[in-house]
Amino acid sequence: MATVPAPLARVIQELTKLPGIGEKTATRLAFHLSRTERRDVEALAAALAALRDDLRICSQCCALAGSDPCDLCADPQRGADVLCIVEESADLAAVERSGGFRGRYHVLGGTLSPLDGIGPDDLNVTPLLRRLGQNGVREVIIATNPTTEGEATALYLARLIKPLGVRVTRIATGVPVGSDLEYADEVTMHKAMEGRREI
Ligand code: ZN
Repeated sequence: MATVPAPLARVIQELTKLPGIGEKTATRLAFHLSRTERRDVEALAAALAALRDDLRICSQCCALAGSDPCDLCADPQRGADVLCIVEESADLAAVERSGGFRGRYHVLGGTLSPLDGIGPDDLNVTPLLRRLGQNGVREVIIATNPTTEGEATALYLARLIKPLGVRVTRIATGVPVGSDLEYADEVTMHKAMEGRREI
């Protein structure tokens, strides 16, 4: 990076630490920032600096939030009888963007992974059971990722929750909307056949 002035090289070096940002993108962003108005760059720097200080964990759903309880948990319009369980706060944001869910969430903080030494005590399972005991939850939708760990975690939670008399459902997996069956892999196709429904 000898051809890049030191102040730019420093920004590029920091940006490449971010997920999905390679050196090329980091360089483009750094040059872009060097041409950006001073107040906008300062606003970005201030927002980044405040990120660690201003973020907290919602004591109800365990999501990263700006307040406790978070806006979703504090919203009286959201039904408290259906709970969607996701692995991370980013997954919550993805479900929320879909606009198709009006219940509440619970963030696990990961998945069970015995090989990495991650057991139920390392996830937000106890707060989940506490909520189920208190709040009149009728259904729990398990929206962990369709990975080996995500599926194992879903099964574990289902076994734990069903005896409490709460309906447990799993999000559907299968052929992506707008895609061609010809290009679906075997596992996806298998899951799609398994998860078929009447129309
Ligand atoms: Zn919350």
